[in-house]
Amino acid sequence: MKQIYRACKKCKLITTEKNCPIHGDEKTTTEWFGFIIIGEPKLSTIAEKAGIPEPGSYAIKVRQ
Ligand SMILES: [Zn+2]
Repeated sequence: MKQIYRACKKCKLITTEKNCPIHGDEKTTTEWFGFIIIGEPKLSTIAEKAGIPEPGSYAIKVRQ
């Protein structure tokens, strides 16, 4: 079965779930573009700018 990757509209975390594993109620969408992998948010200026607190894969743009 092919996995469909989705992104949270709030934190942009990439997941296969229909709801964000961090936000719970926040819906995820398949309408996202590009992604970055954050290993250590505290050491990443990109993560800091994007307000990313947790390591993981994040979409660069998410259609709201
Ligand atoms: Zn989220």
